[in-house]
Amino acid sequence: MTQEILKYQEIDGKLLKLEKALKEMPERQKEEDMRNVLRNSQSRISLIEKNAQKTTENFARAKAYYEDLVIKIETLSKTVDEMDYNKIKETQQAKNSFYQMLEKLEKEIVKINAQLTAVNNEYVSVIKNAKNAKQNLEIYRARLAEADGKYAPQVAELKKELAEQEKLVDKKILERYKAKRESRFPVIVKVVNGTCGGCRMAISASKMQDFDKKGYVECENCGRIITKQ
Ligand SMILES: [Zn+2]
Repeated sequence: MTQEILKYQEIDGKLLKLEKALKEMPERQKEEDMRNVLRNSQSRISLIEKNAQKTTENFARAKAYYEDLVIKIETLSKTVDEMDYNKIKETQQAKNSFYQMLEKLEKEIVKINAQLTAVNNEYVSVIKNAKNAKQNLEIYRARLAEADGKYAPQVAELKKELAEQEKLVDKKILERYKAKRESRFPVIVKVVNGTCGGCRMAISASKMQDFDKKGYVECENCGRIITKQ
């Protein structure tokens, strides 16, 4: 009975090795890294766009205010001719304070302009990174698909063999095997001088009775299935 499961394990081992090799291709991790870069770029871009919109609004507001001030100053300049001395003085003061505001506003506009340029530069650099990431992503995906395609016939063949062998294996032992195969391989080990061939823990006296009767027993320490053969 243990011969069948051992044969099953042998085929399964080849399949696991192939699947592991495919899973652990460096391109797998790189592909995920590129997907993360793209995802981060996307959220970065939406942030930049919000930022750009706010800065553009600030610019428009400052510009409108600036134009309004220029008109006020022009209007004051035109009306000077029709005024008496006190009025002229008053008007001059108003004009001066407008000029001061204008100067402040000019500085503010220069600042906003610089912000816009910075936002734009960041946008360009994020887009450039995203483009590179997308290109790399495609390269890695192609390599992975190529490897998957290359090993697909072998994987299919092993799966077919495994399905055939499965018919011969005791259902109970197979169920235990399948529950363990991901976490500890080989699952089935031989008995070595009364100890587990996997972890070298001695089989207890009570388990020994089971072992003699069924021909296999589960290790109390590592959980592997110990067989006589
Ligand atoms: Zn063990």
